[in-house]
Amino acid sequence: MPGPREDCLFCKLVRDGDHIRAADGFVAIADINPQAPTHLLVLPERHVDTFRDVAEFPPEEAARMLAFVAATAAESGLTDYRVVVNVGPGGGQTVFHLHWHILGGRPMGEEL
Ligand code: AMP
Ligand code: ZN
Repeated sequence: MPGPREDCLFCKLVRDGDHIRAADGFVAIADINPQAPTHLLVLPERHVDTFRDVAEFPPEEAARMLAFVAATAAESGLTDYRVVVNVGPGGGQTVFHLHWHILGGRPMGEEL
């Protein structure tokens, strides 16, 4: 597995951030600028720049990543929520270490 990137904020937070949950090569942290009452980020320990490159994950690890996202939402008490991945600058991505946003705790259905 490629090692952490020295210049990557999320590689640093994987190592020494405040983890809400950690298991199986994944961690969940609270977003520093929450857009909903619950706004969590799921980060894979493996550095992959963007969802565009999700095929860099072995298939079994990619499946576990999805299960980790769902388990993190459930353990946070969410039944209804939104999962978002911003892809590339034009897609709103600002940190180039793949991450999944989990947003909930308010009605999320109003706008895309
Ligand atoms: P994105 O725009 O999809 O790349 O998401 C990056 C997210 O990381 C944003 O929602 C930021 O608020 C969040 N963020 C940036 N720095 C930190 C940090 N130090 N701790 C937690 N979340 C952060
Ligand atoms: Zn990274």
